[in-house]
Amino acid sequence: MLRIVHFLDILEERSKSELKSDMSEGDFLLVCSIIDKEKEFLNSVSQNIWKNPELAYKEFHAHDVLTDALSSNGFQVEKHYILPTAFKAEYSSKTGNGPVIAVLLEYDALPDIGHACGHNLISEAGLATSLAIKAVMEADPKLEGKLLVLGTPAEECSGGKIDLLDAGAFREVDAAMMVHPSNFTSTYAPVLSRLSMTVDFKGKESHAAAFPWEGRNALDAAVSTYQNISLLRQHIKPSNRIHAIITKGGVVPNVIPAESTLQMAVRSATKAELKDLTARIMECVKSGAVATGCTASIDCDEKHCYESLVTNKVMGKLYDQYARKLGIYPTDFSGKDVPAGSTDMGNVSHAIPSIHPFYDINTESQNHSKSFTEASGDTKAQEPTLKVAKALAMTALILMRYPETMEEAKKQFNLDITGGL
Ligand SMILES: [Zn+2]
Ligand SMILES: [Zn+2]
Repeated sequence: MLRIVHFLDILEERSKSELKSDMSEGDFLLVCSIIDKEKEFLNSVSQNIWKNPELAYKEFHAHDVLTDALSSNGFQVEKHYILPTAFKAEYSSKTGNGPVIAVLLEYDALPDIGHACGHNLISEAGLATSLAIKAVMEADPKLEGKLLVLGTPAEECSGGKIDLLDAGAFREVDAAMMVHPSNFTSTYAPVLSRLSMTVDFKGKESHAAAFPWEGRNALDAAVSTYQNISLLRQHIKPSNRIHAIITKGGVVPNVIPAESTLQMAVRSATKAELKDLTARIMECVKSGAVATGCTASIDCDEKHCYESLVTNKVMGKLYDQYARKLGIYPTDFSGKDVPAGSTDMGNVSHAIPSIHPFYDINTESQNHSKSFTEASGDTKAQEPTLKVAKALAMTALILMRYPETMEEAKKQFNLDITGGL
């Protein structure tokens, strides 16, 4: 009798797993066909955003283009959600049960060089993912869950996702996801914690030729600080980054500058390391001010400090599985340094299970360069963008279809964030 029960269990388990793969295979076919069917529309949205680059918190055109695209495709849209250029779009199963999956879109550009980080492609991929998930939910009314499409401004600047997190936009979300274009492919590339700082130096103006001894040169204070930081660089970890520019340093050469401004971004592997590094930079600032007889006031934007990225391994594995199936393979970094930036998605990843894979858009160009702007608008970027969107949609659908996988992702999150405490 016992043996029979055991055998039946095995049969039941087998049929369950076959069912699992059959259903997922069906989902996969539908995801691919919807995204392929919509590829011209998706490209037109991407091109529209690419041709109209907008800076952080001013992405009104992109906001309108994306919210129009979502509402015309049957999403319930809330424009200007929390922030003037953020938005929320929803599609929910009838029961209202199941996990809430957030797909995140970015659409801000950089000053002078436009979409040099390819955020038009993040929007395109996120829109494609969302259309595909919705199509599968419509095709199978038994599939329970809620899809939340969030438009998140100002990733290059202050971090709109932090504002949205603080306002509770992620409170009901079980998992969040997005992709980011680059010249490499990696689901687990290091993403550093980042703090922005502004230092204002005050000195005293004077005639630069007649009475230079009466002045205190604030530009010298900024230059001295800049050099102190360069000296510090020899003794910091390779994973640390410090970059500074002088945005104010006098008006005319015959007046000793009484005011100067240094803007900085400081990055480390963790927020704790970032704190130590920032303390050392403060000393560089202080000594620059003391040496030149100036004063310094330091403004650290703690509220918008970017967290490092915690890529959820359960979700990452699912994504990689489908990315490989579609011919997207991770870059081989052997013998090469792995690039490391920062993103406000890091903060989201500390709040809920998240992924933020980078993918190669068929370019040698690096992010934040004019040539990457060209690559982001090039037709060569389309194929990989649509493929990663398909992998992202499948990741979301597996989480919706199989509550045990969603639970695993949550367990992994707890382990990563609290160490299992
Ligand atoms: Zn960027
Ligand atoms: Zn970016």
